[in-house]
Amino acid sequence: MGINVDKAPDSEPDPEDVLSRMRSAGVQLTPENYHVWFEYVRGENSQLVSQVERIRAAGELFTKEINKKLYTEFFDDDGDDRARRLAQKKTHAVLREALNGILTSQSNTSDYQDSLNDFTEAMTNLTDTKGIAGLVKELVRESNRMAQSNIFYQNQLEDVRAEAVKLNEELEEAMRSSSIDPLTGLFNRKAVDEKLEELLERFRENGTVFSAVMIDVDKFRDFNTRYGHQIGDAVLRVVSNTLKESVKGLDFVARYGGEEFIVLFPKTSRDNAAIVADKMRIAVEEHRKRISSTGEVLDPITISCGVAEITTSDNAESVIHRADQALYLAKNSGRNQVKTEQDLD
Ligand code: GH3
Ligand code: MG
Ligand code: MG
Repeated sequence: MGINVDKAPDSEPDPEDVLSRMRSAGVQLTPENYHVWFEYVRGENSQLVSQVERIRAAGELFTKEINKKLYTEFFDDDGDDRARRLAQKKTHAVLREALNGILTSQSNTSDYQDSLNDFTEAMTNLTDTKGIAGLVKELVRESNRMAQSNIFYQNQLEDVRAEAVKLNEELEEAMRSSSIDPLTGLFNRKAVDEKLEELLERFRENGTVFSAVMIDVDKFRDFNTRYGHQIGDAVLRVVSNTLKESVKGLDFVARYGGEEFIVLFPKTSRDNAAIVADKMRIAVEEHRKRISSTGEVLDPITISCGVAEITTSDNAESVIHRADQALYLAKNSGRNQVKTEQDLD
């Protein structure tokens, strides 16, 4: 043996059970689907249970669309990244366990065991999507090797392999259409547009407000001129980290372009967003960056912010435009400050 798979608490369903139910219902193994079925098997969400059971009783297929609908309806609350990451982790645990089950009963070659151990260890150290995709590829390769060496278990192996291939395709697609800014690791402009549409839809459906804060680094050109572009880039990373640290889980921090950032605050009024914006402003100003090679401490970095809240007559552009106008006012009023749309006449 020698391979440890994270054990769920007693009250939680057995991952193998979840997996086998997904299989028999013909549901593709993805983090989102696993999340849905995990909760279904757990049985605490009676609405989810009855919905899934209705689909099964009607003999309908769990198509991609139906799976997506189930997930969105029950779990995709304001882009709950934590839940998604958790589901992703569980999916990997399942893949690992399924493979592991086949292997421990079969494997008699020690080099195979070694590579599986490496694989398992790497699995537990996953941090980014790229790493996950690489490991899934590895898993597929290893499964193929096993399939060649042992015809007896080929069917089971084929299941795992097919799941891994599908998962891999999805991960690759996620990376292709990447929504991450490489310099700062924040969401990029494309992700902002998608998030705005989502928040806008929610607002139109049930009146859930949100606020947008546009942020621009003050006199950033001077930083570049004085210290060079590389230090300039480092300053952008300092700002992005500080912004991220200043907000809560559901708040959406992105790099909008150059030295401009945006934070979208779901379920938050203009006034409350302005309070958080001022905390961000102070946190950025108080963080004194030191150049590690020379020990020199940079001048304070400051930001200006403009805040707007969604209204019924808005579209995505107009709310951003008002936040931008408020930002422009903050610049003209002397920089290093927060202005809201209410400060505009
Ligand atoms: P202010 O916003 O306070 O009016 O002054 P500013 O100097 O920040 O404004 P401006 O928009 O004129 O200059 C922004 C500068 O940001 C221009 C460009 O040199 C720099 N910049 C934009 N993107 C990057 C980047 O990715 N890395 C670095 N190092 N600099 C960037
Ligand atoms: Mg600018
Ligand atoms: Mg600027």
